[in-house]
Amino acid sequence: DHLSRQPASHKRKYHYTFGDTLGAGAFGVVRKAVNKDTKEEVAVKVILRRKLRTQKDVDDVIEEFRILAKLDHPNIVAFKEWFASKEKFYMVTQLCTGGELFDKIVNNGRFTEHDASVVFKELVLAVKYMHSKNVVHRDIKPENLLYTSKKPDSPLVLCDFGVARELMNENEVIMVAAGSLGYAAPEVFTGEGHGKPVDIWSLGVVLYTMLSGISPFEASTPEKFLEECTPGFKPCFHKHYFTNVSDEAKDLLVKMLDYNQSTRLTIDQVAHHPWVTCDVSHPDYDL
Ligand code: ADP
Ligand code: MG
Repeated sequence: DHLSRQPASHKRKYHYTFGDTLGAGAFGVVRKAVNKDTKEEVAVKVILRRKLRTQKDVDDVIEEFRILAKLDHPNIVAFKEWFASKEKFYMVTQLCTGGELFDKIVNNGRFTEHDASVVFKELVLAVKYMHSKNVVHRDIKPENLLYTSKKPDSPLVLCDFGVARELMNENEVIMVAAGSLGYAAPEVFTGEGHGKPVDIWSLGVVLYTMLSGISPFEASTPEKFLEECTPGFKPCFHKHYFTNVSDEAKDLLVKMLDYNQSTRLTIDQVAHHPWVTCDVSHPDYDL
């Protein structure tokens, strides 16, 4: 029993003063809070036990805490602690005050290639680190990418390890689908088994969306998505949305949005792609 391993866990919530709600999800809410002992401002994911129907749901919640607790990287939301009460689970993390990448894309439209590359390089570092620890996130999307502060040069962190998995070895294949339609790779829906390459696909969708301001897929169901995205699929670069986007960027997108997970780029290959290694800060890049 996880509770018994945490002495007085049920009293731990009294060490925090809870404030505004930052976001809401399937099992509960994320709230701003202050640690009364340290005065540190934090975010607390509060999960209602009664929303967890099965032992598997409970195990998944604990798995999120366990995986995030293992990770320590500037582009992954920092874990502080977790505890439980009779009715709720609590996970305390670093507070991110800069909002979601999602809102930035919705409010400001497409990024310049330079701005997209700054964000993308941070994401590559996060995923490279995570994959080196054999963790697959499975739900990379702009709603789960948060700016840590409101400053224009704020770092971006990956959050929401709610469906993440730790692979026991390089050959382990995940069979049960998870993720978000529009960002999840085709192999998640075909049921052939999936692993680290799903994060590359999702990262490709995020990059496509940043560079164009639109989504590469329109499907509203997994069935329609698999009709849109068949073996040999190539992303479409509509002229109107991809004006002035470099050939290097498009080449990277094609190789990340490769239907075939065995030829799709790995995170190390993404990190070595010319669009990532070259200096897109040159002003000519956005002319
Ligand atoms: P869910 O599994 O319900 O999607 P998330 O962990 O993604 O839960 O949290 C839901 C939302 O709450 C996020 O999309 C984000 O807007 C907000 N949020 C989550 N963690 C933090 C944090 N550490 N700081 C600020 N906001 C957060
Ligand atoms: Mg989320």
